[in-house]
Amino acid sequence: ARLANQIAAGEVVERPASVIKELVENSLDAGADKIELEIDRGGHKRILIRDNGNGIVQDELELALSRHATSKISCLDDLEQILSLGFRGEALASISSVARLTLTSKPASQAQAWQARAEGRDMAVQLQPVAHPNGTSVEVLDLFFNTPARRKFLRSEKTEFQHIDETVKRIALSRFDVAFSLKHNGKLLRHYPKAESQVARQKRLSLVCGQAFGQQALSIQSEYQGLILNGWLLNQGSTSQDQQYFYVNGRMMRDKLINHAIRQAFEGILAPDCHPAYVLYLQLDAKEVDVNVHPAKHEVRFHQARLVHDFIFRALQDAIERPQF
Ligand code: ADP
Ligand code: MG
Repeated sequence: ARLANQIAAGEVVERPASVIKELVENSLDAGADKIELEIDRGGHKRILIRDNGNGIVQDELELALSRHATSKISCLDDLEQILSLGFRGEALASISSVARLTLTSKPASQAQAWQARAEGRDMAVQLQPVAHPNGTSVEVLDLFFNTPARRKFLRSEKTEFQHIDETVKRIALSRFDVAFSLKHNGKLLRHYPKAESQVARQKRLSLVCGQAFGQQALSIQSEYQGLILNGWLLNQGSTSQDQQYFYVNGRMMRDKLINHAIRQAFEGILAPDCHPAYVLYLQLDAKEVDVNVHPAKHEVRFHQARLVHDFIFRALQDAIERPQF
């Protein structure tokens, strides 16, 4: 089971930011509307996430850590099958196979909080009662302590933190109804309060993408044949290439077809050192799209690629204010 977990971990637990992505998604799945992150030393020393979600009952703590753990790897074919399954149902098991993990939880229905600790190589889980408010905390210490090869690939504390920051931004732009905070080495660096009004959303947009974005962004709102596009873009673009967020049915994607449509819409209006800057949300019937070709990548396949491409292009082109000559 441990080997399988470590292999799965290699697939998606690439760096601290990927651990954080999995843990935050779990908190969101649990219905949390407040998620706090505390990071030490770029995440390789310590990652703590605390949420106010539904929690995990005492009886299921151990299961949550060991779910889908498999002892079935006996030949290469099996191995490939497991890799192709990707990460579903394996995040906690995988993370705990390459770090020291503590899972603490209290569902509202339970008077006492319980803590499960995945200890050492055999992954024996120890349970103990502790004090904890309603919700769940996961603490991940010493990431890759037992996989030196992977540890070697960790970059500087600063670089790893930048990846974490970016991961949190992406998620924060997809869930305005959830409050997020992010501490690094004891310092509160990001705080995105719940943002349900239009004004509050605009404020979060500034916090995540910067003042210019918050104040000058053009709103996009377009609909055509079951396709809906919402969001913001910066008419003049940005010198930074990082202000490019595109969500398909709520999930952040990087996709060639989409990029092409966007670049085409911005064509001829950006200064030479500027890149398109946008936060856009495309919604369409789930049947029209295959997401998740690989869980760690952000690929997407549209059944009506041409229609989607042209819709995005037109919606943006209509919104972008072209200079008058
Ligand atoms: P998956 O999310 O794919 O089910 P994970 O390994 O990420 O697999 O999590 C295993 C299980 O642990 C989840 O299905 C869920 O039942 C439980 N769980 C994990 N994190 C949380 C959390 N923050 N709050 C409530 N339940 C959680
Ligand atoms: Mg999960």
